[in-house]
Amino acid sequence: MKIEEVKSTVRTQRIAAHSHVKGLGLDEMGAAVHSAAGLVGQKAAREAAGIVVDLIKSKKMAGRALLLAGPPGTGKTAIALAIAQELGNKVPFCPMVGSEVFSNEIKKTEVLMENFRRSIGLRIRETKEVYEGEVTELTPVETENPMGGYGKTISNVVIGLKTAKGTKQLKLDPSIFDALQKEKVEVGDVIYIEANSGAVKRQGRSDTFATEFDLETEEYVPLPKGDVHKKKEVIQDVTLHDLDVANARPQGGQDVLSMMGQLMKPKKTEITDKLRLEINKVVNKYIDQGIAELVPGVLFIDEIHMLDLETFTYLHKSLESPIAPIVIFATNRGRCVIRGTTDIVSPHGIPLDLLDRLLIIRTLLYSTADMEQIIKLRAQTEGLQLEENGFARLSEIGTSSTLRYAVQLLTPAHQMAKVNGRSQISKDDIEDVHSLFLDAKRSSKHLSEKNNKFML
Ligand code: ATP
Repeated sequence: MKIEEVKSTVRTQRIAAHSHVKGLGLDEMGAAVHSAAGLVGQKAAREAAGIVVDLIKSKKMAGRALLLAGPPGTGKTAIALAIAQELGNKVPFCPMVGSEVFSNEIKKTEVLMENFRRSIGLRIRETKEVYEGEVTELTPVETENPMGGYGKTISNVVIGLKTAKGTKQLKLDPSIFDALQKEKVEVGDVIYIEANSGAVKRQGRSDTFATEFDLETEEYVPLPKGDVHKKKEVIQDVTLHDLDVANARPQGGQDVLSMMGQLMKPKKTEITDKLRLEINKVVNKYIDQGIAELVPGVLFIDEIHMLDLETFTYLHKSLESPIAPIVIFATNRGRCVIRGTTDIVSPHGIPLDLLDRLLIIRTLLYSTADMEQIIKLRAQTEGLQLEENGFARLSEIGTSSTLRYAVQLLTPAHQMAKVNGRSQISKDDIEDVHSLFLDAKRSSKHLSEKNNKFML
């Protein structure tokens, strides 16, 4: 298993709209500060979310889930993300929409399982012995090109390393010279050399590789243990899904059809239940050995009423699993028919037995003033400048449609300003883009007025 090759697959685009959110913004008594940690208003919901964070931390949420219920654009995703952030640094946050489970290619439960595993982190601790010291000398040693060609090649590099126990001279493989150059290491810099892998790390920079040439034996050897090392903890955060992906190999035979299949879907690899079980076994071993620790994150499922009875049953069962993430549902629906049934009506379209396990938090519509403050925060985060009355106009628009629509107008309005040679967005730019695009309410009004003009 090659954990170190894995890159996190966090769904960055979806979270980007909430990049200003850093936490719930509560004071030490658990009361919401009007504007803090990137959140504005919605105080009761934030305070309730704070209590949920306490429950999770004291392990009292097992088998239960949270439901955020409220009109569109009232910050449900923003609050769910803030909960993940309050749970700790690098806690996975995986947002999805209920309708995502319906696909022609992948089973509904498979989509859910994948997202469950995206929301469970694994923090892997490795203790490495490193040689740490300040570079006192950095001399590339050149020799004639051994192939008999022109010019010289660098055969090794001599570096002096001032450590806690005096200065040590190391003669290192030439590849280290490239590495040191790439890292722009100079005399006076502090570097780390890892004892066995030979990775050289400049303080705060990434890994590069080299091996050591022993001055006495004139052989390449792992760096000698002893005088200059110090233990350094390296922590890696991955999700179980990252491990699934890294360990899945594309399946399929050599026949033309399956090769085409691989061409068309180059990223599609087969993650089977068997593979997941194997990964779980390895993960459990790491946990038992104290090398790794599970970090349950947050799985956020928006538009929960889009799920059907089968997926609700699966979800309900998964909540009981010992390695379940914190599941947060969101909906803007009241009572409706549960999908997959013809006539069972229930609150938010959620089966009653599952509903019974939910803590429900309501989110309310924003005042125009709060909305203006949120839009200002977003503009600031995106580095956009607006005329003061532009903000007022946007929050008016947000009040009559949704906050999300108002926030979404920022980018096209900026484009409009740029086209007109301005860096600052004016109120007119906003009017222009608002007249070009329809928000959901105006769009449905338009549709119902002009119904006979559309194909049915
Ligand atoms: P919902 O799920 O309720 O439809 P959402 O959280 O997915 O909402 P919106 O509420 O549409 O997203 O939010 C639009 C923008 O406003 C996002 O960038 C969101 O982060 C931000 N936002 C929403 N509520 C707040 C808040 N209380 N404080 C700060 N920013 C907020």
